[in-house]
Amino acid sequence: MTEEKKEQDQYKELKKKLLSGRKNGYDKTEADTLPAMEDYCKGYLQFLNTGKTERLCAAEAVRLAEEQGYRPFVRGMEVKSGDKFYVCNRGKSVMLAYIGKRPLSQGTQIAAAHIDSPRLDLKPTPLYEDGELAWLKTHYYGGLRKYQWVTIPLELRGVVVRTDGTVVPVNLGGEPGDPKLVITDLLPHLGQEQAKKPLSTAIPAETLNILVGSRPIGPGEEAGRVKLSVMQLLHEKYGMTEDDFASAELEAVPAFEACEIGIDRSLIGSYGQDDRVCAYAALKALLDLRETPEKTAFCLLADKEEIGSEGVTGMRSAAFDTFLEDLCAAQNVPLRVCREKSFCLSADVTAAFDPDYAEVYDKRNAAYLNYGIGLCKYTGARGKSGASDADAETVAWIRRIFDENGVLWQISELGKVDAGGGGTVAAYMAQRNITTLDAGVPVLSMHAPFEVVAKLDCYETYKGMSAVYRGSF
Ligand code: MN
Ligand code: MN
Repeated sequence: MTEEKKEQDQYKELKKKLLSGRKNGYDKTEADTLPAMEDYCKGYLQFLNTGKTERLCAAEAVRLAEEQGYRPFVRGMEVKSGDKFYVCNRGKSVMLAYIGKRPLSQGTQIAAAHIDSPRLDLKPTPLYEDGELAWLKTHYYGGLRKYQWVTIPLELRGVVVRTDGTVVPVNLGGEPGDPKLVITDLLPHLGQEQAKKPLSTAIPAETLNILVGSRPIGPGEEAGRVKLSVMQLLHEKYGMTEDDFASAELEAVPAFEACEIGIDRSLIGSYGQDDRVCAYAALKALLDLRETPEKTAFCLLADKEEIGSEGVTGMRSAAFDTFLEDLCAAQNVPLRVCREKSFCLSADVTAAFDPDYAEVYDKRNAAYLNYGIGLCKYTGARGKSGASDADAETVAWIRRIFDENGVLWQISELGKVDAGGGGTVAAYMAQRNITTLDAGVPVLSMHAPFEVVAKLDCYETYKGMSAVYRGSF
């Protein structure tokens, strides 16, 4: 061996030993694991198409859980190793527990995701007529970019609850052959003034009105004939009157199906992947556990994350503590003892690097498609405000667990410092004295009506959740 060759080899060795070997996940994945990834993603696509609202997601989660032997938990039940319980909180969030071999005094392993997504909710008095057309007024839910919601097909999902308590499910546009709804926009020919406005103000929230009809009924001299015609159709279909809108939760969501994206089919495009991509991973990983876990494994599918985790079905609600305390009580364990020994992976999406908007990312600390589940030590904005900021010990633990289980992972920040920011349920889990770390799937066009993720990252996130459930922090 020449001196030169020896030096080259030593250099290569040193590089391998000391520098991070970040690589595209496809360069680290064995070809024979790809069918499992494809299989997993098929189930995920179905979940997306079934669960377009938090209620529909919760119902689907319960259905899938019951198939795997999960039973509704009732206070006072015996709680022993191997038991599988769930609680559905008011039809909008689901908590599932697979009771572990060790007592609850040794803590739990939690994955917490959310199943609500940005959308357009109907106002309490939504239906009106203008220009001899019938419309529904909306109030947007979560941080959406209003200009993205015009001129796309929409469907209306949710419930109308009558004063006698009857819950009537509403599905307008979700069945094959159904008519769809739409929000109109200005034509470019007349849009010169609008085009000068910033994106954030060009489409005012009060113009996000959904077109629902144009055909009048009754005598020509009457006003409001199109509105009445729409109300008549709603009455025929759902038995509702105009006043019933007051006690309805009707959500306008995109009316297109989830699908594969890319000529190579390596990506998935759909509405609501924030955060159903992590919710499905957390749920599926729990339901796929074939052996009783060491510690109790918990899957939390929360509502209201997009508006700050408030509300009785959000992660700040005591509903979770109540369920956990009930389980603990059955084993004579004080809640605080269980909480301080617990670990939570706050499973929420992160921003994937988009080369078209490279200026908002620190490319050395961005998450990339196909690099695996993205860990976020902290989120927040303006100097980490609002972040739960996991400690180094926690990050070290998850690195070890992921490496031991062959989970491909990356670590990132949401974007450049001071470019913006965001939060997750992590802060509310940490508030409970539960060690918490953020991790999830990188997403392109987050919060858009059609978001994009990579199949590989979906599958690695599923593997990551499974490792967390089987591990013990
Ligand atoms: Mn989210
Ligand atoms: Mn979000």
